[in-house]
Amino acid sequence: MRITVIGCGYLGAVHAACMAKLGHEVVGIDVDERKVSALSAASAPFFEPGLDALLKEVQETGRLSFSTDMASAKGSSVHFICVGTPQKKGENGADLTYVDAATRDLLPYLSPGDLIVGKSTVPVGTAARLAGIIEQTQPAVHTMWNPEFLREGHAVSDTLHPDRLVYGIAGGSEEHIAVQVLDRVYATPLETGTPRLVTDLPTAELVKTAANSFLATKISFINAMAELCDAAGADVTMLADAIGLDDRIGRKFLNAGIGFGGGCLPKDIRAFMARAGELGADQALTFLREVDAINMRRRTRVVELARELCGGSLLGQRITVLGAAFKPESDDVRDSPALSIAAQLQLQGAVVTVTDPKALHNAARRFPELHYEESTEVALQRADALLLLTEWQEYRDLDPYEASAFVSSSKILDGRNILDASKWRAAGWTYRGLGRP
Ligand code: NAD
Repeated sequence: MRITVIGCGYLGAVHAACMAKLGHEVVGIDVDERKVSALSAASAPFFEPGLDALLKEVQETGRLSFSTDMASAKGSSVHFICVGTPQKKGENGADLTYVDAATRDLLPYLSPGDLIVGKSTVPVGTAARLAGIIEQTQPAVHTMWNPEFLREGHAVSDTLHPDRLVYGIAGGSEEHIAVQVLDRVYATPLETGTPRLVTDLPTAELVKTAANSFLATKISFINAMAELCDAAGADVTMLADAIGLDDRIGRKFLNAGIGFGGGCLPKDIRAFMARAGELGADQALTFLREVDAINMRRRTRVVELARELCGGSLLGQRITVLGAAFKPESDDVRDSPALSIAAQLQLQGAVVTVTDPKALHNAARRFPELHYEESTEVALQRADALLLLTEWQEYRDLDPYEASAFVSSSKILDGRNILDASKWRAAGWTYRGLGRP
């Protein structure tokens, strides 16, 4: 099939490459010339494991191309909308200008029978509104919403082997011709038994925001327990292990730490609350305000702990922050708790050096006032305290004896509770975790 992917960021670039890998002829369209020229040269414009290799592999087949020109959508039968839906400035709601613009710009290039498939995360009701607009000029074009559940850092395998496919279509009928078309797009994962759920449009939109809200709630739940553990002298990692053994609860997403960030969870739960308010159902989601508040409190807590670790004042303290990305295996720094903590420490008088294996370039664009150092070894030198804030493998693997040779004071705050506290203490370090005695 010939497929268009509009918006080639973290979601769209991976989706385009994976659709080509599945055998389709794909054109990726983005307004950002820099991204399009990188992708055209088979180079990912951001770090995602396996994406560079996949781009090279599929571009050699001639099935994948990129363009800034929406006219290249002409001739495709399926058009995926993968543009951003960031938080509006100064408001909780989602900014839908990109989704609206992409849809509007696509309309002149559609043919009867074409299928528009939204993958961006949107407030419930958006798909029906867009379907109405599309129908006015292109009555024979179908609209579906097919939310995306990929995880950055695993995006290629999550796209090629999704754990479920959700198809939203007006009326929710499995018999709709558009369902058969999307089945052809996803023929390979469907053949291997990927569950496929056909729903109406609002349910499909809600599946995504509900899933993200659940995950955010789980993280904030364990972080609230970490606050309690701190107050009571208990250990949140043992608590998580113990409650996680109950398979109704599960151990995943129960790691207490500096909280969630990134380009999805924070803005998605806020947009969800805003949309619930518009629908007159705001009471149903007031708990998400608490989830958000617990999450943001983690950042303040880490700054407080860092101050304690530095003997009561941050002024002039040389602090090395290990990790800038919002999670390991990604260079994404959108709403990264690590960077936000680094910036707060700097504002309070610390001399902060940030290091990260992949995200320094993005971090420097967001927070140019911070000092960045590529080499971990150099970053450790003469530090008065270390803060481990993104759990990259190389930080998990740090040897406390070797590290102590570089720093000026052996103090570490493990913001992800991933280090072996006893090992670090045995090597002479003052070790602090979150919610751990
Ligand atoms: P992103 O900012 O990385 O990418 C968005 C891209 O859309 C940018 O490259 C931008 O230039 C492009 N764009 C904007 N307007 C356009 C237009 N009119 N025409 C063509 N291109 C346009 O964002 P992302 O992380 O890829 O997220 C995209 C959507 O997918 C969001 O709704 C997000 O919530 C959702 N999502 C993201 C992830 C993820 O892990 N990143 C996972 C699931 C869902």
